[in-house]
Amino acid sequence: MDCIFCKITEGTIPSKKVFENERIVAFHDISPAAPVHILIIPKKHIPTMNDVTEEDGPLVAELFAAARQIAREQGIAESGYRLVNNVNQDGGQVVYHLHVHLLGGSKLSPILGEIKS
Ligand code: AMP
Ligand code: ZN
Repeated sequence: MDCIFCKITEGTIPSKKVFENERIVAFHDISPAAPVHILIIPKKHIPTMNDVTEEDGPLVAELFAAARQIAREQGIAESGYRLVNNVNQDGGQVVYHLHVHLLGGSKLSPILGEIKS
């Protein structure tokens, strides 16, 4: 499958990994939008949040648990951080393999104010 994040999972494309278990991997974003910008992904290829099934529930919960742990390890748990999941075109999704962005390390600008209908 021609999926860049599957290739990162398999190790055929290099990444700076910060976390890995049997189901999840997390690595530094190649083009960071904040001092801390890490992507947390399931190893299972799920294209978007729309494709998450009921049986994926524990996996999605584990993505957030990993995000929480990584935030602690990166020293931003107390200062704060943002978790982002972009879905499809209007959401700005570029890579169609489910991922959560962990952003922090500085005061992030409010996003809701930027959204115009
Ligand atoms: P999204 O717009 O939510 O699909 O975000 C995709 C993210 O993947 C962007 O922030 C990219 O900078 C990041 N990205 C793309 N290719 C790589 C890569 N090879 N290693 C790490 N991050 C990547
Ligand atoms: Zn994939």
